[in-house]
This record gives sequence, C-alpha cells and structure tokens, in this order.
Amino acid sequence: MSADQVSERAVALVSAARTAGAAWAALPVDERARRLTVASKDLLAGADELANLVAAETHKPLGEAYSSDVLGVADLFGYWCSQGPQHLARRKARIPALDMPGKTGWIEREARGVIAVISPWNYPVALPMRVIVPALLAGNAVVFKPSEFTPRSGAWLVNKLRAHLGDVIAVLEGDGAAGAALIEARPDLIHFTGSTVTGRKVAVRGAELGIPVESELGGKDCAVVLDDALLDRTAAGVAWGIVHNAGQDCASVERVVVHARVADRFVPLLVEKLNATASQVPHLVTATQRQIVIAHIEDALAQGGTLLCGGVPADDATPIPPTLITGIPRSARAWAEESFGPIAVIETQHDDEALIAAANDTVYGLGGSVWGEDLTRAESVARRLRTGMVWVNNTAFTGAIPDMPWVGRGASGNGLTSSPEVLDHLTRPRVVLLDKSKSIEPWWYPYGDTLLDLMRNLIERQRVGGVMATVRTLGALNRRNKALSERS
Ligand code: NAD
Repeated sequence: MSADQVSERAVALVSAARTAGAAWAALPVDERARRLTVASKDLLAGADELANLVAAETHKPLGEAYSSDVLGVADLFGYWCSQGPQHLARRKARIPALDMPGKTGWIEREARGVIAVISPWNYPVALPMRVIVPALLAGNAVVFKPSEFTPRSGAWLVNKLRAHLGDVIAVLEGDGAAGAALIEARPDLIHFTGSTVTGRKVAVRGAELGIPVESELGGKDCAVVLDDALLDRTAAGVAWGIVHNAGQDCASVERVVVHARVADRFVPLLVEKLNATASQVPHLVTATQRQIVIAHIEDALAQGGTLLCGGVPADDATPIPPTLITGIPRSARAWAEESFGPIAVIETQHDDEALIAAANDTVYGLGGSVWGEDLTRAESVARRLRTGMVWVNNTAFTGAIPDMPWVGRGASGNGLTSSPEVLDHLTRPRVVLLDKSKSIEPWWYPYGDTLLDLMRNLIERQRVGGVMATVRTLGALNRRNKALSERS
C-alpha cells in the first residue's frame, strides 16, 4: 500500500470505529460484557492456531506462546467480563447537605471514544489485549496497529473479534508509518507500547494534535540479591528473569547487584543456571535487535568487562547465548541502555544502601526485584526502588495477573495496562448533578454582607467543628436566605 492509501485506510477505520463506537458505548455494560464473553469463547476455540501463529512469528517455544500470550487472553476476558462492570459503575458524590441542599451528584466513567493501540512484537497477543479488552468493555472502539514483525497474530485476533463486534475493533497493518498515520487520523487516545525513542516521538505528535498519549516504554530492571537470599532459588529466578522470551521483555532482568557476603557463592550458581538454559533460547525476533545486543556485549568487553558466560555468537546462525558480564563502568551501554536480549551485567556491593543506589542508577523505572529471606528488610529495600513495580523473591510474572497494574515511571513511560486502575486512562469521569432545590442559592447574586457572614461561618465550622458551629452556620444561612427572598 502507498503512504496515501495507508493514511486513507487509517482515516476510514477511525471514522467507522467512531460511528460503531457510539452505539456500542450506549449499550449497558452488562450487555457489552455478555457480547465480549461470546466473542472470547470463539477466539479461545482457536487457541492452538493462535499459539502456533505467535510461536512462528516470534520464534518463542510453543509452551511460552501458550503461557505468556494465549492463556493471558483467557484470563483477561474472564476477569474483565466478570469484574469490569462493578469497576465501571457510577458512584454517588458526597455533597454537603447543609449549604448545598437538594442535590444529588453522580460520577460516571465515560468512554474516551476511539483508542489507537500501537504495539511491539515481543508479546503480540498479551500486550495489546491488556488494553483492548478493558477498552472495549468500557465502551470504547479500538483501532489496533500490531508490530510489522508480528502482523498475522494481530490480524487473527482482530478478525475473530470483528466477527462478533463489527467495526468497534479494527486492525491497521504496517510499519511505523502506519502507526504515524493512525495518529494523524485523530483517535481520542493513543495507547502506545514500544521503545522509549519511538514513545517520545508519539508523545510529541500527540501533544501537537491535542491527543492524550499513554505510553509503556523500555526498561532496565535490576535484581537486588541480599545476603540472606535463598541462593539456589534466587539464581533460578534471576536466570529466568534474564532469559525468558530471549530477554525480549520490557521487565527482563538486565542488571544484577549482589551483596558482597554472598557473591562468591551466588555468581557461580547464576552462571550454572544461565548455561543450563542455553539450548532453549531462540533467535531474537529482529535482526536489528540482535545487532543492538551484540553491540552492547562488544562495548562492555571494550570497556574492560569480563564475560562470566555467553558472549558474541560465533556466526549468524547461532542465537545469542545467555550472557553475564561483570566489571563494566556504569556508562557502558549494557548498564545504561536497554539491551532487550538474553544478557545481563552484574556487580557487587557491600551494604543495602549501596545496593539500592546501584539499582536506582538508571533513567528507567519499570520493575525491580529484591531477593532475601527477611521479608521486612527485603520489602523495605524494595520500597526504595524507583520503579512502578517491585517484586520480592520473584520477578515480572505479575503481568499475567489481570487485577494488577503493569506500570512504570521515568523513561519507562506514563501509562499502564490491566487492573481497575487502567480505567482511569481508558475513560474520563463525567459529572452529573441533579438539583431539586426550589430556592435561590445563597452564593448567587446579589452579593452582600450576608454572603460574607455565611462564608465566614462555613469556614469556621470546618475549622472548629461541633454542634455550636453548625448552629451558628445555620443562623448565617437563614439570614442569607432571608436577605435574598426580601430582594427577589
Ligand atoms: P518500537 O518503538 O520500534 O515499535 C513499537 C510500535 O510502534 C510498532 O508497532 C511500530 O510499528 C510503531 N511505530 C514505530 N514508529 C512509529 C511512529 N513514528 N508513530 C507511531 N507508531 C510507530 O518498539 P519495538 O522494537 O517494536 O518493541 C520493543 C520495545 O518495546 C522495547 O523498548 C520494550 O522495552 C518495549 N516494551 C515495553 C513494554 C511495557 O509495558 N513497558 C512492553 C513491551 C515492550
């Protein structure tokens, strides 16, 4: 398709989604939940086909395609269609009855309209669906731009949903230019997941067009190993954190800091666990990403780093092996930049303060893990990590729990997925006020001394509280009402 055709298609999809979305948003939420449940049953009947597609497009083992992508979809629909309606219910406002009598106020969650969901390739099903499912349930329409490296999984998902839901969900295939065209088509919210570099471009364009942007960007997570950690279990967990999905996980462990008292025993265990995974680590999804990871290893070695395992593969046919590097300055790329491959750097520190400082020495702020048996101490270390998520004695798996937000800070972005909190982004609060009062409001014109008297009494009542202050305020209110009725 030419650039013009892509732009026209983007405009047409957003326009059709906006029209269909109006009728969709007008349905009661329980009806939307019912229709999404029906669609999900059909979608999950094709679970094998979907898992095979994901495995083929991402090179990940079939088991990982099921566990990290397809199972997640089943959980998401189950969670949102059962729990979502209560989280979307309107709430009654607390309105002071004394000075604002006769009023009832509601705060409702109103759908944004058309949401553009732009996604990367590392979890081509789970990531977009963590936004698409709650977005649709909340009454939005969605135009989804999957990664150009995983187009078939994206198209498959949307086609299954469209068969039941029509134009409220659509797919726009293509590369970054298609993503940019989708933004120009003026959706009402952009939910972007991808690299920090692209995320900033999207944020700038969104700001220029006045479209809010939720972004979930890169990470540089650190595992902090305390001196009372269960070393064998910790090594197994940290190794999984480094290697799963070949390290192509925004919250994969890319830095490890270990307490000096246990470093001699922990490091060999970690190397052993990493080496044991070597045969299961596939090729990275893109050649560009492979070049970045290799460049990080080469830069680390050029800056005096030592390989504890792995390294640059012998030839292009060999996947990048699990790699652990030590002895590099923090300015080296493998410490300072996201690697997004099965590699990590490790350093030793002598106390908890130094471990925390090392973990926080990054612009990123997605996740971080702390490993130690004294949970009070481990939790207090974890709470001092400047990240959206901290895990004690585990890492990253909470992305599979629909009730927990996936959230970062700093260069890792301002957005989130999953959990009731995502509704704060996917909807706008709408205030509805009903007034059955028949009298002139005390704060309306004409102003005068009785208004000042009333205001001062209201403030005094807030300051001191108690029955007498309320009685004085009622007196001031009566004087004000009398003055207003005499003038009307
Ligand atoms: P990317 O930024 O290259 O691309 C992401 C998406 O943006 C793709 O669909 C791409 O086509 C599109 N895109 C590119 N240029 C665009 C533009 N100018 N306007 C609009 N869209 C555009 O990222 P990637 O390489 O596909 O994914 C890897 C990155 O994603 C890593 O940095 C990883 O950490 C990050 N990520 C973050 C999270 C999170 O939740 N924080 C989750 C997964 C991946």
